Amino acid sequence: MDTAFFTDWIDEIARLVTAERDHLTELDAAIGDADHGANLDRGFTAARATLSARPPGTPGDALVLLGGALIRKVGGASGPLYGTLFRQAGKALGDAPRVTPADLAGALEAGLRAVRELGHAEDGDKTMVDALAPAVRALREAVGNGEGERAAFEAASRAAQEGASATIPLRARKGRASYLGERSVGHIDPGAVSSSLIMQALRVTADNP
Ligand code: ADP
Ligand code: MG
Repeated sequence: MDTAFFTDWIDEIARLVTAERDHLTELDAAIGDADHGANLDRGFTAARATLSARPPGTPGDALVLLGGALIRKVGGASGPLYGTLFRQAGKALGDAPRVTPADLAGALEAGLRAVRELGHAEDGDKTMVDALAPAVRALREAVGNGEGERAAFEAASRAAQEGASATIPLRARKGRASYLGERSVGHIDPGAVSSSLIMQALRVTADNP
């Protein structure tokens, strides 16, 4: 995967986030403050503008620029968390001009570690981590089994969606939704849903070379 693959991935995330903006906001209205869709739409739109003004030289550079734009523009809890995910993943890719799915698995593992350190969320706390962690695990497992890019990203995307759905019965223990206590039960976590859009965009990008 070259730099163009990564800018296509970011464009596809932006497209999906814009399409799902109102849905994400409705989900956040139920257990948060109804800004998740607007937050991410603003962030990914800004990221696209940053990348067209200053085209990235490498895959790592693209993710670092994306992370910086999200930190500057998203606000809320999700901005620094997603910003950290992509910045740390980008740093892990270094300045390689092309990367493999195994490299991306390693980079997302590094990004996820940084998200956990920043947000202190454990698995099952009903956050984006509940979609990201199974996705990254599925990606690692698929590349370990010698799966190709498309199959590996398909597995990661499916794991993220399942992880997001599995947040419905959970009680939130981190973020704004945790203020609701038991009343957060029965709702899907908006950040887990946006994380599954990010992984879905990866699959779509691999399907449309
Ligand atoms: P805010 O909660 O500040 O309004 P957003 O609505 O943009 O920010 O994002 C909410 C999402 O952020 C939640 O659905 C959850 O997935 C994620 N989140 C919140 N706190 C944490 C945390 N400590 N660790 C991981 N993810 C978190
Ligand atoms: Mg919110």
